[in-house]
Amino acid sequence: MRVEIDPDLCMGDRNCNKVCPHVFAYDEDKMLSIVKVEVVPAQFEEAVKRAARECAPGAIVVIE
Ligand code: SF4
Repeated sequence: MRVEIDPDLCMGDRNCNKVCPHVFAYDEDKMLSIVKVEVVPAQFEEAVKRAARECAPGAIVVIE
């Protein structure tokens, strides 16, 4: 599974960073969240899906 963040939609509230810090990080310069991994490790897939569900602007795109 892969995941991307649409930089045009991310509002930088960092919720995804709290839900799954292994996969998401915050770029202080761009003031948006970024994805740290090429492929989501299996043990973090559920957390990534939860982060996507909780992302209010729908910026997190999960690619199965
Ligand atoms: S939860 Fe969504 S809007 Fe919030 S920082 Fe993460 S990607 Fe951006």
